[in-house]
Amino acid sequence: MVDLLASLGLRQVINASGTMTALGASSVSAEVIAAATSILPRFVLMTELQAAASRAIAEATGAEAGCVTASVASGISVAVAACMTGAELSRIEQLPDTRGLRNEVLLQKGHDVNFGASISQMIALTGAQVVEVGTATSCGAYQLRGAVTEQTAAAVYVVSHHTVQSGLIDLRTFCTVCHEAGVPVVVDAASEYDLRGFLSQGADVVLYSAHKFLGGLTAGIIAGGLDLVRACYLQERGIGRAMKVGKEGIVGAVAALERWKTLDHDAIHQQEARRVESAVQRLRGLDGLEVDLEPDPTGNPITRVKVTVVPERAGVTAFQLARRLAEGNPAIVVRDHHVDRGYLLLDPCNLSDEEMDQVCAKIAETLRKTPGQVQTSQVPSMADVWAHGITQWPGVERGPQHGAKKGGS
Ligand SMILES: *Cc1c(COP(=O)(O)O)cnc(C)c1O
Repeated sequence: MVDLLASLGLRQVINASGTMTALGASSVSAEVIAAATSILPRFVLMTELQAAASRAIAEATGAEAGCVTASVASGISVAVAACMTGAELSRIEQLPDTRGLRNEVLLQKGHDVNFGASISQMIALTGAQVVEVGTATSCGAYQLRGAVTEQTAAAVYVVSHHTVQSGLIDLRTFCTVCHEAGVPVVVDAASEYDLRGFLSQGADVVLYSAHKFLGGLTAGIIAGGLDLVRACYLQERGIGRAMKVGKEGIVGAVAALERWKTLDHDAIHQQEARRVESAVQRLRGLDGLEVDLEPDPTGNPITRVKVTVVPERAGVTAFQLARRLAEGNPAIVVRDHHVDRGYLLLDPCNLSDEEMDQVCAKIAETLRKTPGQVQTSQVPSMADVWAHGITQWPGVERGPQHGAKKGGS
């Protein structure tokens, strides 16, 4: 078999960063691949397929109903739109013009995170006005209560390691306050393992990525009450059309939920814990590193290796170490969200034992190779690093035909 990566001229990737859509999301499980393969050559009534998905999502989450959209990013827009329009088609077709509709959407300021794009932009896509509540690091129930107006259509709550982790309103309280005011709550739980807890705490609709921990194809799972979920599905007649999922994504989401039920989660976590432990043992011996365990901040059953880099001894900063690992072939991608704080994380979920060994070996080699003095003061904002990377795409010089076009129109 021809290796696809080689034929496209792509580098191999060793993923020590967890489930990142920028790395192709998950390694899709065999069960999901089989399900997608079997639906791809066939026709199907998409309404029936979405109804079947609704049953599968209801069973997996305890919700009344569910449907599938292109992604959680889409799901945020679709669910917010649903809260504004209900199931009324004329209103659905009207968006993003919100005249005559409630159009304010509440969001705690500390929840307006960047998951690749921002939560508030996904809300604003519908035509809604985002009303930020509280400050970046502090928000109280009284402020949420005070932000509700006649125009409030929905409130969005984000469960994620990206959010500010303290000083904000817990989900149960958030739902209570919103419900007292008749405001539905949309929960973004894209990366969360808990398929039932957020609904049981009062969420009206919860969004999960099918392509993250579930190991499905790229898709967004919407779970909630029947009326709201139906209004979500009907957005395909409006702005949701631009976010539509294919049959393979729907079947993939159903297969991923089925598989999730049958997995031996304890055994998987034990395996991951052993992988983490062996990495800790190997890295602790290296001069210039401080190595600890870090449990997932939102309570997902993942413990990661926290590697704090002491630049004076390591010869590199955490930022430089992460960059050098990523520049190789295979590219080793670590969790680099906090390199400006001097540490990086290794996530065991998408690594084999051999790959974890390779990652540790490459870290050791990188430290050894690096000569003395390091400039530690210049750690750029990762926002700038990511922005620079993407704006250089596709990474080759502009061809002559493009140059010609530029002068023309
Ligand atoms: C990954 C993620 C998203 C985006 O999910 P997609 O399904 O890839 O669109 C949104 N919110 C949070 C908190 C995420 O972690």
